[in-house]
Amino acid sequence: MDLGIAGRHAIVCAASKGLGRACAVSLARAGVSLTIAARTKADVEAVAGEIGTAHGVAVTAVTADVTTPEGRTAILAAAPRADILVNNAGGPPRGDFRSFSPDQWMAAVNDNMVAAIEMIRALVDGMIEQRFGRIVNITSGAVRSPVADLSLSTAARLGLTGYTAGVARQVARHNVTINNLLPGRFETDRFRSGVAGRAKSAGISYEEQFERQRSVVPAQRFGDPAEFGDACAYLCSRQASFIVGQNLLLDGGEFPGTF
Ligand code: NAP
Repeated sequence: MDLGIAGRHAIVCAASKGLGRACAVSLARAGVSLTIAARTKADVEAVAGEIGTAHGVAVTAVTADVTTPEGRTAILAAAPRADILVNNAGGPPRGDFRSFSPDQWMAAVNDNMVAAIEMIRALVDGMIEQRFGRIVNITSGAVRSPVADLSLSTAARLGLTGYTAGVARQVARHNVTINNLLPGRFETDRFRSGVAGRAKSAGISYEEQFERQRSVVPAQRFGDPAEFGDACAYLCSRQASFIVGQNLLLDGGEFPGTF
């Protein structure tokens, strides 16, 4: 399927690994040039080189922390008029809800809500002016179905979800869409470190914990980041202009509801 976005430009935040990287790869495959950002210079530059070579598009690497104003300024300086924005950042720490301090709450809200809102605010009027824009926020399945040790993540991301629900309806008339992608369990570095942490707490091996988590997914496997990236590219396509303010859950059937 031709996604109709060849020649467009995308900013993909937090894109040197995992889900962000997969979104960048799928967009590049659709002919989209990229500005990708992450905090580790060597990683983001290496990935920019790999994607550019593999897909024949221009890829600019920006070493930046998207959760800081300086980081966002650096990313936006590289692509002030992007057609597509994929918001992503590292997730907040896991832990018992009793253990989180006000500072940790403020950090989670900053990193997983305000950072994305600020990127949207900086780019949305340019998208409106050109009558094309696609914004995808990577949130989490924990927004739909809270996970015991992820209260920081659920609460902060629900703030972004609420913001998106309202703003998406204000910009849709200009062919600018904002949607959220909710990952279930995808095999990435962050996911593997979560398995390791839970194995340690439970006093079992990594393999045993991995198997416990795999067995609860109706698809009986974890997600491949590449399939997440392809869903993102579709939401950014020309054809997806009528998909507005939605929350698309990719979890192999783990959420047990009818809707
Ligand atoms: P990952 O494999 O650890 O990759 C994270 C990427 O983001 C890396 O490229 C990292 O590079 C970059 N990054 C992290 N913090 C950043 C920051 N402040 N500024 C710029 N770049 C930053 O993680 P992932 O599994 O892809 O997860 C991506 C997001 O999805 C996270 O918010 C995570 O909580 C959420 N999520 C993931 C899953 C899953 O199953 N994987 C499930 C639910 C939700 P640097 O460290 O070099 O910056």
